[in-house]
Amino acid sequence: MNSVNEKVSYLKGLVHGLNINENTNEGKAIVEIVKILDAISDELNETKKSYVDLKEYIEQIDSDLTNVEDEIYGLSDELLDEGSEYDEENFEEVKCPSCDESVYIDKSLFGSSEHIECPNCRYGIVLNSSSSVKTE
Ligand SMILES: [Zn+2]
Repeated sequence: MNSVNEKVSYLKGLVHGLNINENTNEGKAIVEIVKILDAISDELNETKKSYVDLKEYIEQIDSDLTNVEDEIYGLSDELLDEGSEYDEENFEEVKCPSCDESVYIDKSLFGSSEHIECPNCRYGIVLNSSSSVKTE
C-alpha cells in the first residue's frame, strides 16, 4: 500500500466498513474529506501520466536536438573558423559595385588581376580597381 491511490482506496473501504455515513455531522465531514482525497488522487494520477508523457517527449526532443547540433556544428566547424578569420587582417570587405553586398576577399588576391564573382549577383568584381582596396 504505497501509492496515494491505494491509501485512498483503503480509507474508502475503512470509512464504509466503520459505517461512517452522512447521518452525523462528523460523518458528513469525513465522507467529504474522502471525496476530496479521491479527487486529489485521480488528479495526481493524471498529472503523473502527463509527466511521464512529457518526459518522454522532452527526451525525444533532446535527442533530436543533439542530432541537429552534431549536424550543424559538424558542418559549420570550418565555416566558424572561416568566420573568425573574417575579423582578422587577411580579409578585406569589399562592396559589390553592382548590388552593394559585402564580399570578403582574401587580401593576397588584391593587386593580382583576379576577378571575384559576387556571391549575391554574380557580378565580376575587379579587385585592383575597387575603391575600398587599401594600398600599403
Ligand atoms: Zn553583387
